Amino acid sequence: MGKGKESGKKNQKRKNSICMVSELCGGCQYLHLSYEEQFKLKQKQLQKLLGRFCKVYPITGMENPFHYRNKVHAVFGYEKGRVISGVYQEGTHNLIPVEQCMIEDKKADEIIGTIRGLVKSFKLKTYDEDRGYGLLRHVLVRRGFATGEIMVVLVTASSEFPSKKNFVKALLDIHPEITTIVQNVNRRDTSMVLGDRENAVYGRGYIEDELCGCRFTISSRSFYQINPVQTERLYRKAVELAGLTGREIVLDAYCGIGTIGIIGAKKAKQVIGVELNRDAVRDAVRNAGQNSVSNIRFYCKDATEFMTSMAAEGKQADVVLMDPPRTGTNPEFIRAVRAVKAKKVVYISCGPDTLARDLEEFGRVGYEAKGAWGYDLFPATRHVETVVLIQRKDT
Ligand code: SAH
Repeated sequence: MGKGKESGKKNQKRKNSICMVSELCGGCQYLHLSYEEQFKLKQKQLQKLLGRFCKVYPITGMENPFHYRNKVHAVFGYEKGRVISGVYQEGTHNLIPVEQCMIEDKKADEIIGTIRGLVKSFKLKTYDEDRGYGLLRHVLVRRGFATGEIMVVLVTASSEFPSKKNFVKALLDIHPEITTIVQNVNRRDTSMVLGDRENAVYGRGYIEDELCGCRFTISSRSFYQINPVQTERLYRKAVELAGLTGREIVLDAYCGIGTIGIIGAKKAKQVIGVELNRDAVRDAVRNAGQNSVSNIRFYCKDATEFMTSMAAEGKQADVVLMDPPRTGTNPEFIRAVRAVKAKKVVYISCGPDTLARDLEEFGRVGYEAKGAWGYDLFPATRHVETVVLIQRKDT
């Protein structure tokens, strides 16, 4: 790891960086800093944003802060007669070739390298965005760190895939460790990576992974935390902060594939999960079943709408676990938390600034933050995950 002094100078940054493309890629804003320096910056940021609400505890970091990403996404293209894959330069559609990455899973990068070679030998066309022509657009690889299962998603611009069978066979010959291969068809001209239609061309079409002693099914379009080592620590803390005794009605809002709710269900009376993504809800239902958790129900709905109608029907919840996207939640959701008479809220956030904004709103409706714990889920980047315990003031 670069041991450079904290410095804003670009030259210094480039010199200290251990990645050839980090300047162009833009994904690892802190790669040029030592892990200790990254930590200090993140701690300072949390203190600045959250310190006025509650005590900010020291961030929990990783023992080995490299190659932690279990999900790797590569855009495919063609440049000067060669097949390339990598990332779009931040804010542009310039494809930066990436063959090795300091934070991505090594096996996933290896598989993507193999696919580059196979695309060439099978004479497949990579998709050209400007001309709307070609077949292969993206490759997504997801690996269950605990189970070793690997899913490869081939995103194509049309459903016709010449020599698909032989292509899949050649890939499996080189990487027999792949457990499923999915073809996803994305004809649209948007920045969305995955399209609506997909089918498994090998295996079950999803992988499983384990977290906190539970087993989870993950399909290609469902959200799953990209750093399972740290996620396990974060979820344990979240469940501990919820302080469940077996008597509580718990709401798991923005529940994804049901991870947090299922892990907490053994200590709760009843859990209600709400999530917008249909595939994730389907995974969540299956996950409850395969973990023999019967006191949990999932609803495919907008979290705010769901909470608001719960409140309108006079229903109550004791604890709200919430884990919204980086954009955070909204005042309506927070008012509904009050209306369902929740005593405790455990807020997991990957956006400390939207978290601070939402804590302000919680304050307005009679809640106060009791403590914030940072978890470094994204070493080498500027991002940090936080869990905050929030309590109703009159409890
Ligand atoms: N708690 C889960 C997922 C967190 S990511 C986990 O830890 O794995 C945030 C989730 O919120 C995603 O699954 C996303 O699909 C979902 N989401 C986004 N907007 C939503 C909304 N308005 N209502 C409900 N869920 C939403």
